[in-house]
Amino acid sequence: MTDRKNVYLFSKKTEEIEQKILEFRELGRKYGFKLVDHPKDANIIASFGGDGTFLQALQKTGFREDALYIGVNDGEFGFYTDFSIHDPDRIELAMQSDMVEVLRYPTLEVTTDDGQKFHCLNELSIRSNIIKTFVIDVYVDGLYFETFRGDGLLVSTPTGSTAYNKSLGGAIVDPKLPSMQLTEMASVNNNRYRTLGSPLVMGKERELTLKIVQDGNDHPIVGIDNEAMGIRHSHELHVKVSDRVVKTLRMKDNLFYHKVKRSFL
Ligand code: NAP
Ligand code: MN
Repeated sequence: MTDRKNVYLFSKKTEEIEQKILEFRELGRKYGFKLVDHPKDANIIASFGGDGTFLQALQKTGFREDALYIGVNDGEFGFYTDFSIHDPDRIELAMQSDMVEVLRYPTLEVTTDDGQKFHCLNELSIRSNIIKTFVIDVYVDGLYFETFRGDGLLVSTPTGSTAYNKSLGGAIVDPKLPSMQLTEMASVNNNRYRTLGSPLVMGKERELTLKIVQDGNDHPIVGIDNEAMGIRHSHELHVKVSDRVVKTLRMKDNLFYHKVKRSFL
């Protein structure tokens, strides 16, 4: 870690966190880190807050592959936050020892038919903003697969599998498996409309195409992690596992399965 010394701090704006961050500035100085004002000058981006703040830190700093992201939580243990604002000793320990390792999390790449590109660490979600159901044609590697009718569809990453995906009955996927999972939100299944009805996990080489079939009154809400995207004018989304990974630091005694067990069991 010695050549990585420029740190950008991204935080949830609360008085408690801003106060705590002052202590971290001191700690940083002690170990020769330099705080920078712009994320483009940083090779370490530290997020202070919850998992939601970590996701925002990525979206707001451009999903940098050449930076190391570190999540510091504000009390509650999270999935992306391996350190706590209330435990600077543990961070100090991490700086001095080999108790930390760099993890590489798979992400999704979403391309729209009007040429916009987005990255997700948790998921892509498409939901209707109207009371009526809406319709999406689903293609896998260009093959027409099914026509979905219902509330919406979600495509999650392995690390996103413990979030929205889990609430929809999706499987928890090990982050060591570069993959994406398609889950349904309240699909209509009857003699006219038929969908797979179970979550579908796809490998790295696959491309999923979601074509929104619009009748003119509906404008879907497209979510990229915790941000709503304005894609009113594009009707086709291509989703695949990206070559870009998110590098993050974790303590070796806090495995993905520790987190799953701590949160759900
Ligand atoms: P939020 O509404 O505050 O988030 C909901 C909860 O999900 C929070 O407790 C958040 O943790 C947690 N979370 C975020 N990423 C997670 C992950 N990878 N694994 C397990 N839990 C996770 O909104 P937010 O904090 O901005 O988080 C955005 C995420 O919320 C979205 O990406 C989506 O996955 C999820 N979400 C879930 C539902 C649902 O389950 N019905 C609906 C909408 C959105 P923190 O408290 O640490 O932030
Ligand atoms: Mn949150």
